[in-house]
Amino acid sequence: MTSPVLVVHGGAGGHNDELTERLSEYREALVGALEAGGRALRDGREAIEAVQAAVMAMEDFPLFNAGHGATLCDDGEVELSASAMRGSDRAAGAVAVVRRTRNPVAAAAAMLDEPEVLLAGDRADAFAAARGLEQRDPSEFVTERQRRRLSTRHAGDGGTVGAVCLDGRGLLAAATSTGGLQGQRRGRVGDSPVIGAGTWADRQVAVSCTGKGEAFVRAGAARLLGALVAHGVGLENAARTVLDEVAQCGGEGGLIVVDARGQVALPFSTEAMPRGVWRPGEPPVVEIP
Ligand code: ASP
Repeated sequence: MTSPVLVVHGGAGGHNDELTERLSEYREALVGALEAGGRALRDGREAIEAVQAAVMAMEDFPLFNAGHGATLCDDGEVELSASAMRGSDRAAGAVAVVRRTRNPVAAAAAMLDEPEVLLAGDRADAFAAARGLEQRDPSEFVTERQRRRLSTRHAGDGGTVGAVCLDGRGLLAAATSTGGLQGQRRGRVGDSPVIGAGTWADRQVAVSCTGKGEAFVRAGAARLLGALVAHGVGLENAARTVLDEVAQCGGEGGLIVVDARGQVALPFSTEAMPRGVWRPGEPPVVEIP
């Protein structure tokens, strides 16, 4: 048996006033996500179910850029994407540009059983509905807060959510969920639902990334981290190297990673990245710089 660990992030971005003013809400949301994932582990569920539970909790929190309250596209609509990966067999699932599925990460996790990895658009929502996942009218994801941010061109990036976990059996898993970048063109897909870019898990590491998606895609960020660790690079160094590579591709951001020994690294190159760590028998540790 290994000692489990669960890590979550609430997106790399600028240090805006809201983070300070609504600090206790952010804190509660991160603790809630860690507790949801921790409960799943205590109930004997696997790492993949723990990351799904943690990310679902964050998707339901309207200040994060995922699920209800996600950032808006240039025309004021919400388009959501998510992915999940199980390290033991590299099963991977993702959905992109969904508009009705309340918890996109649950749809991504449902894709783990399918022969395809990624479904997009209406068909991804239809798949989620057929799997019994709650559907909402697209307008219900739009919040007044995000309307204001779009109309004032508030520097509003950040808030994407993710989780990585090592469970008591030594299994690793990762999941990421986002509404993308504020004001993005309709139909844009960033790194979050792209396996190997925003999310990766194998037998040695589980990774969830956040930041300027195009740079993470071009860097092959999450997979690169797995490859570096597999070739003997230490976790911190590997994580820093990945962010350097992302910077060379013109982007900044952050990531969370856990390895098979339970070591974690949570670096970011932006001003802020809310994040938290849960280990059994210890109070959840949350940092909102
Ligand atoms: N990586 C996400 C995207 O590019 C956004 C973010 O992490 O803030 O869609």
